[in-house]
Amino acid sequence: MKRFDIAVCGAGPAGSTVACYLSRAGYDVILFEQAEFPRHQIGESLLPFSWKIFEEIGFAQKVRDAGFVQKFGATFHSERSKAGHSFLFEKSVNPLFPSICHVPRDKFDAMLLDHARECGVTVMQPHAVRKVDKHPDQVVINDEFSVKLLIRANGITNQQAHPDCYIQNDQEDNATGIYSYFPWKRRTGTNRDGDVLIDLFYENDEQTTPSWAWAIPINEEVMSVGYVLRTHVFAGYRKEGKSLNDIGQELLARVPFIQESISSTLPMEDYRMRFNFQRVSRQIVHEREIFIGDAAGFIDPVFSSGVHIGLNSARMAAKIIQAAQLPSGDFSQAALLPFQMTYRRLFWNYYRFVKLFYEKNLVENLFLLTDPERDDYTRQLTREFTSILSGDVDSPNSIIRSLDTARLTINPEVREVFGSAAALPVKLETEVNNI
Ligand SMILES: Cc1cc2nc3c(=O)[nH]c(=O)nc-3n(C[C@H](O)[C@H](O)[C@H](O)COP(=O)(O)OP(=O)(O)OC[C@H]3O[C@@H](n4cnc5c(N)ncnc54)[C@H](O)[C@@H]3O)c2cc1C
Repeated sequence: MKRFDIAVCGAGPAGSTVACYLSRAGYDVILFEQAEFPRHQIGESLLPFSWKIFEEIGFAQKVRDAGFVQKFGATFHSERSKAGHSFLFEKSVNPLFPSICHVPRDKFDAMLLDHARECGVTVMQPHAVRKVDKHPDQVVINDEFSVKLLIRANGITNQQAHPDCYIQNDQEDNATGIYSYFPWKRRTGTNRDGDVLIDLFYENDEQTTPSWAWAIPINEEVMSVGYVLRTHVFAGYRKEGKSLNDIGQELLARVPFIQESISSTLPMEDYRMRFNFQRVSRQIVHEREIFIGDAAGFIDPVFSSGVHIGLNSARMAAKIIQAAQLPSGDFSQAALLPFQMTYRRLFWNYYRFVKLFYEKNLVENLFLLTDPERDDYTRQLTREFTSILSGDVDSPNSIIRSLDTARLTINPEVREVFGSAAALPVKLETEVNNI
C-alpha cells in the first residue's frame, strides 16, 4: 500500500488548486486525473478576483506570461430593447483587479496541473479513481493508495457516483447550454474587444425570463459562442426533431449582436451540449471526505462564476484542512463542517443573483432599460453589481457584507439546504422589489 496524506480526485481548476495549496503547506498530496491532457472543457471566462488565488499558489506569473486574451469587463446587451451596458471591472467597489483573461481550458488546465507537479504533488494520469473504501483511520483508493483524506474535485459527473448528493432543480428552474467555436472578428481593435459579451434574447414578446448567448474570445483567432436556455425551452426545440447543430444555428440567427464579433457564421466544430447543469448539494463533507468545485455544486454560468467558485472552494478547503490537521489530525465530518458553511455562503451569493437574473430579469430591468449611470445612487448600484461580476465576494466592504433578510421566493428544496439565510444587498433588493 502506498501512503499519502491527502488524495485529490480530478485535475480541473478546483482539484489542481487545492493540491497546490496543500502541497505548499507541507502535505504529501496525490492527485488522480482520469483523462489524458489536453482535454476539452467549457468554462473559459475567468473573474478578476481569481488573481488573489493565482498569487497565493505562485501561479499568477505563468498566467500573465501565457498571452491569454485580456478581459476588462462584461458587456450585456438585449436583442429586445437593443440596449447595452459595459460593466468595467475598474469601476467596481474594490477595483483591485481591473482585468483578467479568457482561457482555452485545455491549455489552462494543463498549465495548472503542471504547476501542481512543480509544487510537489504526485500526479497519476490517466488514472481514474474507481474504488474508494473508507475505514476509521484511512481511505483506501483503488486498493492501492492509503490516505487520511479524500478531496472530490471530479466535476459535475460526480452526480452519477453520488445521486444523494444533489438537489436537481426542476426543468422550469434549470438551464441547458449548447455551444461551438467561430472565427473571432475584432469589433473595435481596442482591448475592449476582449469583454465577455452576454446577449439577452427571447423566444417571443411574452417571454419574461431571458435566454442568453455568450461570446468569449479564447485566443487571438477563436470565439467561443454558446446559448443558455431554460431546459423546457430547449426541450421544445428537441421535440421538433431538430439536431444540436440546427438549434445552434437557429439561435445564432437570433443574436445579431454576437454575430458582429465573428467573421463567419459557420461553426468550426459540431455544437456540444450541457444539459440541466445547475445543481445544489445537500452534503459536501463526510468522514474523511470533502467535495469542492463543480463536484460540490454548480450554478448557471451567466456571471462566469464557475471556475472562480471552484478556485475559492479549493482555497477554503485547504484552509479548513490545515486547521483540522493541527493539533489532532482530525478529519471527521464534524471537524470539516466549517468548510460546508463557508462554501455555502459563497455559492449562495451567486445563486441568488442568478435567480434574480432570470426571475426578475435583473440586468435588462435595472441596467439596460434605464441609464445605469444616471445619478449617484444608480452609479453605486452599478458598482456593486460590477463587484459581483469581478468575483469580489469576500472583501470587507463588498456587496456581500451589506446583506438584508431575504424575501426571495426560492425552490423549497434549495431553501431546505440553505436555510433561511437567503439575503440580498439592501439597495439592490429594494430596486428589485420595485420592478
Ligand atoms: C455552458 C457552460 C458555460 C460555462 N461557462 C463558464 C465561464 O465562462 N466561466 C467559468 O468560470 N465557468 C464556466 N462554466 C463552469 C465551468 O465549466 C466549471 O465550473 C469548472 O470547469 C469547474 O471546475 P472543476 O475543477 O470543479 O471541475 P472540472 O473542470 O469538470 O474538472 C473535473 C476533472 O475531474 C476528472 N475526473 C472525473 N471523474 C474522475 C475520476 N473518477 N477519477 C479521476 N479524475 C476524474 C475529469 O476528467 C476532469 O478533468 C460553464 C459551464 C457550463 C455548463
